Amino acid sequence: MACYFRGMSNDETISFTETMLHSGRVIDLAEIPGIKVDKHSTGGVGDKTSLILAPIVAACGVPVPMISGRSLGHTGGTLDKLESIPGFRTNLSLAEYKDVIARTGLVMIGQTKEIAPADKKLYALRDVTATVECIPLIAASIMSKKLAEGIDGLVLDVKTGRGAFMKNYEDASRLASILVDIGNQFGKETIGFITDMSQPLGVAVGNWTEVVESVECLRGTRGVNDSSSDLMEVTHILAGAMLMVGKKVASIEEGVERSKNSITDGSAYRKFLDLVAVQGGKVGAIENLELYPLSRHSIEVKATQSGFVAEIDPLEVGLTAIALGAGRTRVDESIDTKSGIVLRKKVGDSVESGEPLAQLLTDRDDAVSSSRTRLSAAFHITSQTPQKKKLIMARVTAGEVKSL
Ligand code: URA
Repeated sequence: MACYFRGMSNDETISFTETMLHSGRVIDLAEIPGIKVDKHSTGGVGDKTSLILAPIVAACGVPVPMISGRSLGHTGGTLDKLESIPGFRTNLSLAEYKDVIARTGLVMIGQTKEIAPADKKLYALRDVTATVECIPLIAASIMSKKLAEGIDGLVLDVKTGRGAFMKNYEDASRLASILVDIGNQFGKETIGFITDMSQPLGVAVGNWTEVVESVECLRGTRGVNDSSSDLMEVTHILAGAMLMVGKKVASIEEGVERSKNSITDGSAYRKFLDLVAVQGGKVGAIENLELYPLSRHSIEVKATQSGFVAEIDPLEVGLTAIALGAGRTRVDESIDTKSGIVLRKKVGDSVESGEPLAQLLTDRDDAVSSSRTRLSAAFHITSQTPQKKKLIMARVTAGEVKSL
């Protein structure tokens, strides 16, 4: 509580991180050749970049050991998305974790009991004492887990906007700076980006729906000059930075080109299929996306006026997705993997009255009507073209936040 009200100095935050890190095991991946690099995102709505980026980076030769979380509040979680793939296992033992990365160059699991157990206890305490939203405590919590994974370098995506935990740019910038400082202090090259979360990323919000969008982006049939372009812009810049930290390229720009090539030459998609197979998932489900079970209700939300989409409130979209069954309000709640939202329009698009704005997917009869109203209200339509917002807002390195 004192930290929440008074903050912590950088030195205090770093020693707190170190103590939490050493409350558990620090995984040693020295026997895996190469510079191991991971990415962490502070979370958003429709943020499925990990699913696309990890296979891209691994396909380009940089090993990616990734430990991810579950849905938290209005934001989705990588683990829940992966587990929507039939058979996919995220609860690997540490021995399996090492084996999978040795075989495929990437691994995606959940936090194990050996990793930063003090963080788990303190996070639970913060949760019930309303002290989660404290930048040094968030930074120490995130970094104690990331530093335990066995990484050599880290790229951070700190999101800002209504769909993010950091609602304003100044807080995002403070969080990104301390995260980068901690990473570098521990001898891991760390680069951060501050990215916009004022509308959902890409088109899909949910679990299986997000896997579908990710697979289409990995196949290269989506993500270029369409409504998933923002998702791929964030993915490519993060991948570019990871390839630079992994010493495969000399600059982020060169890394972005490599990342794009791994989509066009099919290597990123093949790497994703390898990962699914090795972690027990059904490859056939990915190769035949259309065979997945459908929700009982598939409802179009239509525009009631013509104009331009000026805003899509990501917080409202995220909360609606929870009401449809795609997220949790309690940690022990189960998820309906099929449910979710697919946006048909994004900010800046023109729209005619009666055209679909979004599609709702759910099995919950009692959620249809209220969710339709809520989602419709999340779209703000104006008569004039809205100003385009910058997506990649800043790059953060040791001691510097550089606006882009
Ligand atoms: N994510 C974490 O891992 N820890 C926090 O404190 C907040 C978000």
